[in-house]
Amino acid sequence: RSKRRGRGQITVYSSEIAQEMRRSTQLEQALRNAIINDAVDVHFQPIVALDDGRTLGFEALARWIDPDMGFVSPAIFVPLAEERGFIDTLSETLLHKAAEAALTWPRELFLSFNLSSVQMTDAATASRTLAILANVGLEPSRLDLEITETAVMLSAVTATNIISELRQAGVRISLDDFGTGQSSLGRLRDFTFDKVKIDRAFISAITTDPTCEHIVRAIITMCQGLQLEVVAEGIETEAEAELLRDLGCLMGQGYHFGKPVDAMATLRYLSRQYNNMSLIQ
Ligand code: C2E
Ligand code: MG
Ligand code: MG
Ligand code: MG
Repeated sequence: RSKRRGRGQITVYSSEIAQEMRRSTQLEQALRNAIINDAVDVHFQPIVALDDGRTLGFEALARWIDPDMGFVSPAIFVPLAEERGFIDTLSETLLHKAAEAALTWPRELFLSFNLSSVQMTDAATASRTLAILANVGLEPSRLDLEITETAVMLSAVTATNIISELRQAGVRISLDDFGTGQSSLGRLRDFTFDKVKIDRAFISAITTDPTCEHIVRAIITMCQGLQLEVVAEGIETEAEAELLRDLGCLMGQGYHFGKPVDAMATLRYLSRQYNNMSLIQ
């Protein structure tokens, strides 16, 4: 078709590509500046016990509001930092902030932090992560690292080494977005995880699509057998929470329990739950 429309059409395409490249370079520059200027923030979303709703920990989620572009999703800027080779810098900045915030929470609460799949291809990730914890003073046993199946597939040997080094130090490993991507149950055999997070795609359809309910039921049963903890992601309604409870799921996360909020609002949220006890030591 583009042949018949002639040269003009092709010019339009290539100028669109050029524009797209300029835009992503601008985005890259803005993100690099934001990291330097401490303008990338981290928010926290509660992970709760489904039986009584008490908070067990928080997942750290990167947040960036650019003065010109406004809110930019981490689903955009995390992959950009991966592509342009500065995900380590971004991630270490975020972990530093998240760990400092976690120090102000009651000690029984854990911090869950997303590692990028690119970081799982670099053997130094384990020691760099542990160095940040030591630097901030957060016990490794309070950290959960969320990784995806893609991450462990990219470079299996390196990923195995990173996971075992971190677990030896007391850090727990969660398999994020379980059930999506190139899922393979073999992954649960080849790698050692502590926790599985069932992807939001299954949870959002769980009360309307019997197939989803069967899949989630099977995942929960399998994880119980493998002695893996299970978190259901993206719970938005009480009906979903109720059904998951009935299926034997112990932990949940989602807008129904709390949206991601900044460190100050997280402390306010906690002080309500902990009955106004003084949280800042
Ligand atoms: P994720 O790790 O699976 O995080 C869960 C995502 O689901 C978050 O999106 C969260 O805000 C959203 N969410 C939680 N509950 C609900 C709900 O009830 N309904 C709906 N519709 N959404 C819900 P967010 O914050 O936009 O992050 C998107 C993805 O970006 C994350 O998916 C993660 O893969 C990545 N990401 C975010 N922060 C970081 C980070 O610090 N480092 C790395 N490497 N990746 C990050
Ligand atoms: Mg996650
Ligand atoms: Mg997830
Ligand atoms: Mg995700």
